[in-house]
Amino acid sequence: MMRLPPFEYRAPVSVADAVKLMGDHGPDAMLVAGGTDLYPNMKRRQFEPKVLVGLRGIRELVGIRGSAATGLIIGSGTTLTVTAAHAEVAAHYPALATAAGQVSTPQLRNMGTLGGNVCVDTRCNYYNQSYQWRKAVDFCMKKDGDICLVAPGSPRCWAVSSSDTAPALWSLGASVRLAGPAGERTIPLSALYQDDGIQYLAKRPDEVLTDILVPRAEGLRCEYLKLRRRGAFDFPVLGVAVALTMDGDTVRTARIVLGAVASQPREAAEAAGLLVGQRLTPDVITATADRASRPSKPLDNTDFTHPYRKKMTRVYVERALRRLAGSGEDA
Ligand SMILES: Cc1cc2nc3c(=O)[nH]c(=O)nc-3n(C[C@H](O)[C@H](O)[C@H](O)COP(=O)(O)OP(=O)(O)OC[C@H]3O[C@@H](n4cnc5c(N)ncnc54)[C@H](O)[C@@H]3O)c2cc1C
Ligand code: SF4
Repeated sequence: MMRLPPFEYRAPVSVADAVKLMGDHGPDAMLVAGGTDLYPNMKRRQFEPKVLVGLRGIRELVGIRGSAATGLIIGSGTTLTVTAAHAEVAAHYPALATAAGQVSTPQLRNMGTLGGNVCVDTRCNYYNQSYQWRKAVDFCMKKDGDICLVAPGSPRCWAVSSSDTAPALWSLGASVRLAGPAGERTIPLSALYQDDGIQYLAKRPDEVLTDILVPRAEGLRCEYLKLRRRGAFDFPVLGVAVALTMDGDTVRTARIVLGAVASQPREAAEAAGLLVGQRLTPDVITATADRASRPSKPLDNTDFTHPYRKKMTRVYVERALRRLAGSGEDA
C-alpha cells in the first residue's frame, strides 16, 4: 500500500488567511481542495509539500451565483457534482455540465472541486507512476530527474493537460479570479495556462483561484465530447469543447478548444473562424472538422496511440458540430 508522506495540515477559514499561510511557508506549501488528485500524487512522491493549506473550510469559495442571463460566478470550492447538477449550468451551459459530470467517478466528483479541476496537474505515462517505477527508469525532469523520457532531446516537459472542464470553460469564454499577496486580479481562463508540462499554470503558487466567471449564455449552443478508454472512470485522452453563439441559424461567434492534446488546452481558432457567418451545413461542418485537427499534436505519453488521438480530433469536432446543428447524427 502506498502511504502519504508526513505533512502539516493547516485549515484557514478565509481566503485572506489561506493567502497569508501560503506566503508564510513559501515553496514548502501547497494548496489542497478536494485532494482527489493531489493526495494520490503525494503517495507517489510526485509532490512532497511540508505544509498543505486546505481550502475546504473556506465557505466563501463554495456556491454558484448569477444566472444564464447575467453570467455565472462559480466558487472554486464548488464540487463537480454540484456544478454538473446545477439547474442553470445543466440547462444553459451543457458543455460545462457534461465536462464536470464526466470527470472520473461519482465519489471523486463529490469531493473534487471545479477549482481543483481547472488547476489539476498535467499527466504523462512516465510520471504518473509509483516512486519505485520512476526510480527504475531513472526519473524524468518533471520530478527528480533531468531528461524527458518521451522526447529525450527536448529541453522541456510535454506532460498533458488532462482537465475536462478547462477546455469547456475556455470555449465558453470564462475568466478566473485569483487572490494573492498583492490583492485580487481577474484574467481570462485561457491566460491561466502555458505550454509547459511542469510550469503549466501562469499563476504564482501562492495565488488562490477563488472564482470562475462564466459569461451570459445569450444565443449559446455548446457541447463537450470526451475520448477515454473506460467510459465510467478515465481521464480524457482527447476532449473537444465547442461553443457557438447564434443569430437564428447563423453562427455569430465560435470557439473550438481541444483538451489532452498538449500541455495546455489548445484553441483551434482557424477552424472556428470558418464557422462565423455560416449556417451549420454538412459542408461547413466537414471543412471545420478537417481544419480543427491541425493544432492537435498529441505525443506518445498517454493512453491510446497518438496518431489515433489526432485522427479522433477530426471525428469528435465533426460529431460535436453535428449535434449542435441539431441533426442528432453522429459522424
Ligand atoms: C482515478 C482518478 C481519475 C480521475 N479522472 C479524472 C478525469 O476523468 N478528468 C479530470 O479532469 N480529472 C480527473 N481526475 C483528477 C481529479 O480527481 C480532478 O481533476 C478533480 O477535479 C481535482 O479537484 P480537487 O478539488 O480534488 O483538486 P486537488 O487534488 O485538491 O488539487 C489539484 C491541484 O489544484 C490545486 N488547487 C486546488 N484548488 C485550488 C485553488 N482554489 N486555487 C489554486 N490551486 C488550487 C492544488 O494545489 C493541486 O495542485 C482523476 C483522479 C483520479 C485519482
Ligand atoms: S513529458 Fe517527459 S519530462 Fe514530462 S513527465 Fe513525461 S517523461 Fe517526464
